[in-house]
Amino acid sequence: MAKYDFLNVIDEKSRMLDGLADYIWEHPELNYREYKSSAALIGALEAEGFEVTTNLDNMETAFLGSFGSGRPVIGILGEFDALAGLQQEAGLTEKNGDGSPGHGCGHHLLGVGSLAAAIAVKKYLEDNPGKGTVIYYGCPAEEGGSAKAFMARDGIFDGLDAAFCWHPANGLSAQNSRNLANCKVLFKFDGVASHAALTPQLGRSALDAVELMNVGANYLREHVPSDVRFHYAVTDPGGAAPGVVQAHAEVLYLIRAPKNETVADVYERICNIAKGAALMTGTKETHVFLKAVSSFMPNQVLVRTLHEAMTELPYPKPSAEDIRFYKELSKGPLADMPNVDPENPIHYEPKPLEDLILRFGSTDVSDVSRVCPTAQVTGATYAAGTPGHTWLRVTQGKTDWAHASTRHVGKILALATVKLFEDPAKLEAAKAEYKSSIGEKGFVSPIPADVKPSAD
Ligand SMILES: [Zn+2]
Ligand SMILES: [Zn+2]
Repeated sequence: MAKYDFLNVIDEKSRMLDGLADYIWEHPELNYREYKSSAALIGALEAEGFEVTTNLDNMETAFLGSFGSGRPVIGILGEFDALAGLQQEAGLTEKNGDGSPGHGCGHHLLGVGSLAAAIAVKKYLEDNPGKGTVIYYGCPAEEGGSAKAFMARDGIFDGLDAAFCWHPANGLSAQNSRNLANCKVLFKFDGVASHAALTPQLGRSALDAVELMNVGANYLREHVPSDVRFHYAVTDPGGAAPGVVQAHAEVLYLIRAPKNETVADVYERICNIAKGAALMTGTKETHVFLKAVSSFMPNQVLVRTLHEAMTELPYPKPSAEDIRFYKELSKGPLADMPNVDPENPIHYEPKPLEDLILRFGSTDVSDVSRVCPTAQVTGATYAAGTPGHTWLRVTQGKTDWAHASTRHVGKILALATVKLFEDPAKLEAAKAEYKSSIGEKGFVSPIPADVKPSAD
């Protein structure tokens, strides 16, 4: 194993890394307001000797840490934002949250696992100077903010030869998937308030417009490709008084499809439905394009590189104490979830390489995948069956196993990066695949140039 000695630095720094993950878990911060979490990660990068740049892309909580010189330049992506309403005491088998934010997507692990990878690659580059450069990207606001898509649009990832990322999950595997592009748009209607009984003829209802828009959009479902998804939330119904004609109302749309072009097409058709609703109700319609992400462009060469790294490294096993906790969860709140077996509560063995599939979610890592060859792994940081974005992830966020699995993924990403440094032909093959996938036009951001990132 001598050739993999650089990975030992991750074990040597386990205390610092685990402590950092716990600190971020204990200070859950929402999108674009991750001040403490980003400061902690920046502090760690500086202490480790990376050259740090803050306020990346004019975002207060975006940063990078770079080490090494020359090409190739490999990016490792980190996230650290939390989700609203998911606070939960760690290590409990029942829900006890107070409604404040919590790390229900595991980004406190994500940011730290990627940092562990960057630190190990730095160690390799110290021992092998001139092999290339590693850049850790501190990417805020994955949840609802899609910061990486803005960063990609604004050229922050330009010049990367490849990028790696990972996500905490219920199993260890190299992700061989496409997913859905999306865009998020807020439709606003303005009408005329009036007494709903005395002078209804003078009123123009913005709520009617929202309802008619949603009816129209629901009829549209029959006439779009079957893998298109769109969802809406009435974020402002115009008040709580039925006796007042609602003068202002808002509805938020999220439109998804496997291709960026399909999202753009459905978006246009939904805009026309909104115009029609305004015409029918005598109201005025305006809309705000909030954000968008591309669909993920998989890279088979990099997926195989990650899978290779994953299968070469001995994987850690959970302690008896952690197993007891996971068994209790599997018998309790997880009992009715798919793939749950209390006798085998964590699926920590690496999964075989899967065939390319379509996953019906979205991620802002996708926009990085359209700038350079990009691939991801999932870590086995949670018990089998644990649903994402729930208290069940938060309660499992500080176990020894979550820490160990996070560090293990750090090793996988570091080893995959070093494989690219050591085998230029592999990287060239990944880049050739990228070029043929992205086509002549190259990367076209789905976010219009004048749209600025915004918190929820
Ligand atoms: Zn999430
Ligand atoms: Zn996430």
